[in-house]
Parts: sequence; C-alpha cells; structure tokens
Amino acid sequence: MILGGGILKGMAVTARNFVGSYFVKERMVTIQYPEERAPLPENYRNFPFLVHDGEDQHAGLRCVACQICEKECPPQCIYIVKSKDKKPDYIGKPQFYPAIFDIDISVCMSCQICVEVCPFEAIKMDKVFELSQQERFDALLMKKDELAKSNTYYHQIHPTEAASVDAKLAEAAAAKKKPATPPAAPPAAAAGAASTPA
Ligand code: SF4
Ligand code: SF4
Repeated sequence: MILGGGILKGMAVTARNFVGSYFVKERMVTIQYPEERAPLPENYRNFPFLVHDGEDQHAGLRCVACQICEKECPPQCIYIVKSKDKKPDYIGKPQFYPAIFDIDISVCMSCQICVEVCPFEAIKMDKVFELSQQERFDALLMKKDELAKSNTYYHQIHPTEAASVDAKLAEAAAAKKKPATPPAAPPAAAAGAASTPA
C-alpha cells in the first residue's frame, strides 16, 4: 500500500467535485439568495400555524381551544385563553374557540408535537423561515391573527398532507351526518309467538 494513499484518494474526490461543479448542473449548488430561492421539500417545517377553512379566519378557525397542544408543548411556548361563547365548527357543531392563541417562536423548537396531538387538524407546520427581528421579545410572539392561515395556503405548502387531511375531515363529517341505524325488527315467527295469547 502506498504511503499516503488515503490522502491522494481524498484529494482526487475533491478535485473531481471541484472541476465538476463548473460543468455538471446538479453540482452547481450555489444560488444567489435572496434573489433566487431553492424550492423547499414538501416535508420541510419551521413553526406552526393555525388552519382556517374558507376566507373568514375567525369563522373558519378549526381550533376549539381544547388546550391539548398547550399542555404537550415541551418548551411551553403556546398560550391559549378559551372563549366564553361558542361558534359552529366545520360540521356546524357549536364549539369554543381561542380568544387568545400565542406562540413564542423564539422558544419554539419546531418539534411538531402540537400538530401530532391536535385532534382537530387545526395546527400545522409552516415553511416560512425569514422571521428574524431586531427585537427579541414581543416581535417574536406570534398572535392568533398572524398564526391563522387558510386551508388553501396549507394545500400550497403541503399538498399531499393537506389532501389527506381534507379527505379525513370529509369522512368524519359524513359519518356524523349519517342517520343512526334503527334497531333491527324482531324475526316474524318470534313476533307472532309473542302476540299469541297463552
Ligand atoms: S412545534 Fe413543538 S415547540 Fe413549537 S409550538 Fe409546537 S409543540 Fe411547541
Ligand atoms: S390547536 Fe388543536 S390541540 Fe391546540 S387548542 Fe386548538 S384544537 Fe386543541
């Protein structure tokens, strides 16, 4: 074995990549950010947002202020105050809603646990990452109005996941609307026997 063979092999790989980066398109990885942007993979995630159906972010907000995400968030960066009144949810059932819903994104660690524990498909992970601010505290505290984004937006950033959530919600709504099955009638012979006088 040649002394320093590993070093020569390593230098050959470096040289191949260096020269290739000038001629092979896939290797030209430098882009002129912020004028150019590399597309983000569908599963990329950053901070959470609240999904609303339709155009009205208050009427369509899916969150029912159950506070499960607030309890489960590991760094405790969600703060919710439940409403006193109720509004109809996506199947018309009256539900509470968050009067206040804040997330401190300076503390959020993008773990997605809030998304996984939410039983109402109401909170999802966003892809926005250019959120730096000069002020450390209030500027990084995202309020309900900033967090609320439409289901259309959700489809734009996570199309596969959003389509499967829509299908699941439509199925749940259809099951709730289906009339309850009436109890089975007794068999004719048994009914006849029961009506025969002793
Ligand atoms: S992503 Fe994790 S840290 Fe951020 S709000 Fe959700 S549960 Fe909390
Ligand atoms: S986002 Fe989901 S888990 Fe959190 S309070 Fe709203 S409905 Fe409950």
